[in-house]
Amino acid sequence: MSDLAAPNTPLPPVPADENVPDNADAEAWRAKIFAYYKTNVPTKIKMVNSKMMEKWAGKYDVLYQNLIKKYGPLGHPLPVSTLAPGAGGKKSMGDFKDSFINLVAKAAPQQLPERNVDVVKSKAGVQVNGLETSTFTVCSRVRPILPHELEKEGGENFAVIVPGQSFEFDYAFGPDSNNSEIYKLTTEPLVERCLNGQCGVIFAYGQTGSGKTHTMNGIMDELCESDIFKEGSEVEFTYLEMLGANIKDCLNTDPQPKPVAIGEALDGRILTRNVSIHPCADSSALKALVSKAKSLRSVAATEKNAASSRAHGIGIISCTDVETGVTGKLYVIDLAGSESAKDSKKHDSKRMAETKQINLSLSNLKECIRARTMASEPGMGGIHVPYRRNKLTLLIKDVFEIGCPRICSTVVMTNVSPLASDVSHSSNTLKYSGPLRVAVGKGKGNLQKDEDDPANWTNEEAEARIREAHGGEIGDVKAFVRGLTGVQLCGLPEKEYLVRGGKEAGKKVYLWMWALITDAKTRKRRDDGTIVTKEDEENERQELVRQKEEKARIWAEREKHLRKEF
Ligand code: ADP
Repeated sequence: MSDLAAPNTPLPPVPADENVPDNADAEAWRAKIFAYYKTNVPTKIKMVNSKMMEKWAGKYDVLYQNLIKKYGPLGHPLPVSTLAPGAGGKKSMGDFKDSFINLVAKAAPQQLPERNVDVVKSKAGVQVNGLETSTFTVCSRVRPILPHELEKEGGENFAVIVPGQSFEFDYAFGPDSNNSEIYKLTTEPLVERCLNGQCGVIFAYGQTGSGKTHTMNGIMDELCESDIFKEGSEVEFTYLEMLGANIKDCLNTDPQPKPVAIGEALDGRILTRNVSIHPCADSSALKALVSKAKSLRSVAATEKNAASSRAHGIGIISCTDVETGVTGKLYVIDLAGSESAKDSKKHDSKRMAETKQINLSLSNLKECIRARTMASEPGMGGIHVPYRRNKLTLLIKDVFEIGCPRICSTVVMTNVSPLASDVSHSSNTLKYSGPLRVAVGKGKGNLQKDEDDPANWTNEEAEARIREAHGGEIGDVKAFVRGLTGVQLCGLPEKEYLVRGGKEAGKKVYLWMWALITDAKTRKRRDDGTIVTKEDEENERQELVRQKEEKARIWAEREKHLRKEF
């Protein structure tokens, strides 16, 4: 038998010399307590730190007696298995660390698939229903363990992967990734959209303390240094904060600011009221505004992290091409923390109501992203995207409106904490955002080619169609099309149309093309992928009428017979 005390063996009494005098100094006690841990419970040696010594200052004798009660007298180390509740101890997560790491090593794939570094751009190239006009790239980021978390009593925090659970993302960033790497992969393509008069959106979603603000602030800082400051382009910045229907302009210095309103005009444009728009001549002007917005964001203590925000923070950068007047937009959105009921248990009723509002708006956002992706399925263009239900989704309507005449790219960054204690919340976060990556176009039969979809036109077809519809206004159609195919023309930014065809005619052709794209997206299709044309619909309607009339005739006939019989 080993010299370790077996479970349930009665413990020998505490030897007298273990009673350290009360007046011994803290260092002597620390050494004694350290030696105790080292001998009896070496797995918990990390617990002997200055935090623990401070906590027990003046009561070291009590601490020592407690230790003896829990782990037995000095020199009687207990095997880990006896630290179970019945044996005077409690198993902690730290006790399972090694077996956990082994499990992870077994579960982790040996060879990771190659990563696509053009992850945002490549999405727009995937054509399921003509041109993908609004794409969603879903990424995740696990932040590193922070120094103060490593020192935490018990040392129970370690990076967590749960074997058996897997989530698919377009790109996953680990604890070693830095903000500039993340900017390059996720936001640089959005800047390109913005400069082209199109629309880019990046969201950070996750639990409070998971690194959303760190990520979005990092992106903002990188943006200040980016090439949005180009000759011939004017940059403006706005920063809003949104909690339910309450919207605050963080850059409005008016001591009594009027309430901000976001609404929709009859023609579908999004209108804002009492929002301050700040022109930025250069990078340092934008930097100053960004830092002002950061400092003015209203923050409230949560159980997790005192400096986290509970409202959505929305940075809006717009770039206007001076020559054509076309404006592109870039939204950097730091979503409010997805608090669980557990995290908000100490909240008063106002905070609980806020938490409810936050969760409602997050679930609405999820619904909109899923519905919009599904609307890309051929024949599904009529699907309802409920973006009007919430001011956040209404504000970025372009992303969700199937008929929006510009290309939108959206990136969802899912932030997760690496801590074992956050594992259930992290897994909920991943369960929420994983499905945002909806697979489009699976299981459909061969699609009948849509001749009226500009994305399907060859260069010759594009020229012929444009000549037929707008030849008179454009003049030299060949010079306008410049050898491009339909899908390439669809991908051209609006301002390029204006440059090629003149402000008026160029705009006309642009809007005409986008009306055709929208028609193609919303075209009805049968389950086998064939198109239901207007004529088909009319024929079907007439056939229904004919069947109805035939039925009526048969019934009238029968009635005649019945009358004769009775
Ligand atoms: P959230 O906005 O999700 O509530 P924060 O961005 O405030 O979370 O992050 C919580 C803490 O973690 C902050 O102290 C932040 O500086 C730190 N942190 C988050 N992500 C990282 C990272 N990738 N590298 C270093 N520290 C990070």
